[in-house]
Amino acid sequence: MRPLIAGNWKMHGLTAESAELAQALRKGVGALAPEMLVCPPATQIAAVAAILEHSGIAIGGQDCHAETQGAHTGEISAAMLRDVGASFVILGHSERQADQGETDELVAAKARAAVAAGLVAIICVGESGAERAAGQAEAVVERQLAGSLCEDFAGVIAYEPIWAIGTGETATPEIAQEAHRYLRGVMAGELGEGVAAAVPILYGGSVTPDNAAHLIVQLDLDGFLVGGASLDPQKFLAIIRSSG
Ligand code: PEP
Repeated sequence: MRPLIAGNWKMHGLTAESAELAQALRKGVGALAPEMLVCPPATQIAAVAAILEHSGIAIGGQDCHAETQGAHTGEISAAMLRDVGASFVILGHSERQADQGETDELVAAKARAAVAAGLVAIICVGESGAERAAGQAEAVVERQLAGSLCEDFAGVIAYEPIWAIGTGETATPEIAQEAHRYLRGVMAGELGEGVAAAVPILYGGSVTPDNAAHLIVQLDLDGFLVGGASLDPQKFLAIIRSSG
């Protein structure tokens, strides 16, 4: 499977900064092999999509609503993301679970909406440090994944252990591989072996140019979801080079 590298810009970037970052990526990407995308804040998607047009770098949203339209003040639908240039959407990020109380059931509804609008959903799962210490890591991600998948899912899964996000404490290649293999097994049970083999499973959690090469060689690790390092074009491009 060709590696897929996604950058999650989170709530960072006014117009000038986002444009500068997109232009640096456009200039630096050249003929790099992995498939890549960036997920700017919603306000910057259209402008970044225009800068990255025909660059080979796709665009994603960071969330979408489960409904197609309606009286939901402040929300953005999957079709609206698509309309301004997105082809992917991150769903169920642990920061949204913590900040907005998102449940697995809501993530499944959002995934259904994303698929219906023609977006590729990137569903995030991952255990907390306390859950891992209590020996519950597999049970937690299994519950999250089984609860978040929708019937005709054919998107992307991101394994993002909460203890590794933004902490500098990256999962070891062995821990990541074990979790990814487990998740592929869960997916096979839910959606069949064929789908499970074809769905990329990304790793996210303090990925840097220094650890990317050791992680990407793991059998069930198909790419990265990168937070902090994706805001630095040199670091993000170095991660992409290490993954090619
Ligand atoms: C993320 O938030 O999805 C993430 C992986 O962040 P970081 O790379 O900064 O740990």
